Amino acid sequence: MRLAIERKRDGDELSPAQWDAIVGAYMDGAVDDAQMAALAMACVFRGMGLDEITALTGAMAASGEALTFHAENVVDKHSSGGVGDSVSLIAVPIVAACGGRVAKLSGRALGHTGGTIDKLEAIPGCSAALSMEAFIAQVERIGCAIAMQTDAFVPADKRLYRLRDRTGTVPSVGLIAASILSKKLAGGAEAFVFDVKCGTAAFMKDIASARALAQTLVEVARRCGRAARAFVTDMNEPLGTWIGTGLEIVGVRDVLRGLDGDSRLRELSVRIASAMLEAAGVADAPVRAEDALRSGAAYEKFVEMIEAQGARRASLEALAPVEQRASVRAASSGFIGAIDAVALGNQARALSAGDACAGIRVRVRIGDPVRTGDVLAECYGTNAMPEAIAGAFHIIADQPPSRPLIYDDVTG
Ligand code: URA
Repeated sequence: MRLAIERKRDGDELSPAQWDAIVGAYMDGAVDDAQMAALAMACVFRGMGLDEITALTGAMAASGEALTFHAENVVDKHSSGGVGDSVSLIAVPIVAACGGRVAKLSGRALGHTGGTIDKLEAIPGCSAALSMEAFIAQVERIGCAIAMQTDAFVPADKRLYRLRDRTGTVPSVGLIAASILSKKLAGGAEAFVFDVKCGTAAFMKDIASARALAQTLVEVARRCGRAARAFVTDMNEPLGTWIGTGLEIVGVRDVLRGLDGDSRLRELSVRIASAMLEAAGVADAPVRAEDALRSGAAYEKFVEMIEAQGARRASLEALAPVEQRASVRAASSGFIGAIDAVALGNQARALSAGDACAGIRVRVRIGDPVRTGDVLAECYGTNAMPEAIAGAFHIIADQPPSRPLIYDDVTG
């Protein structure tokens, strides 16, 4: 192992056989955390070739249980993590309502970003702890399931991810791509759609690095025999207006029922669902996706999914923000120049840890004109700190240039 670390440190590539052996030895305990951290740091500084990323992906994917579906057209999506990002909970039922199948294995909240599993479990009775058998059976029966990864699922990534988190070695395109793709490969889908977030509240702060991750994900997926497409999307402000576990379910429910104007969340969800449907071979995907939302078919599929996972329609429909509410108001007039989505994500995570229906609703977007006293946000919960939340909104004199929601669409 020492020689492999030195080779990587000096800028050489390791062979696929070496990556395979390293992952095996790390899982056996023959390679310890100190050596693995040194190798990860060498990857951060020296980068990784596509052959290396492909080999690491395959070795990690093979380190635990993998899923196999009898049904065809099983697709999956993955977001690199954002604030107010509930796209999965909208796109998954749209795809299933249009005849595609989605097997979505998700994670819990990480740092300031929300976790799909925490949001799903905010619906009383809803469980994301499905056995692999129950997960596969549900996807084949009703077309979709969203479940938590079990401990036996890609254990090499779990171990390496924790180590990277402790040793400052997360920001490497190669390590991130291998981490994400190993879980997608083991998840058993035939095609993937990636949502690579880009901006102040994302792992990738600038478009060039987000595009590099998107291109790497698509190319390595192709080398692993899977079709993939990646969107590079904006994360300089929260995607949806609701932030917090149960509150994001309220936002999802409203979009699925055609209520309310959470337009950015709706637009991105339809775009991603359409790409998933195209990957599943469904014709007229954008039209079908829109129809599924408008007709209520996607909402009914969402209800069917949560009922299959233990919740009741009435519990979903009764979900509402807690009564304690405080408004956050503008201290000056001008334009919203920036929104600190990291601060809002952290605040909302802390609020909804106490009560799933506590959190934040953002009322403005970057570029909106505001006058002194206008409501910028509402915070829900007994421990809400409106002053801290007010600090997340920066008001400037001149209107900032507008930014697109989707910066790039990488198809390989
Ligand atoms: N998400 C993952 O699953 N892995 C990473 O390394 C980064 C984001």
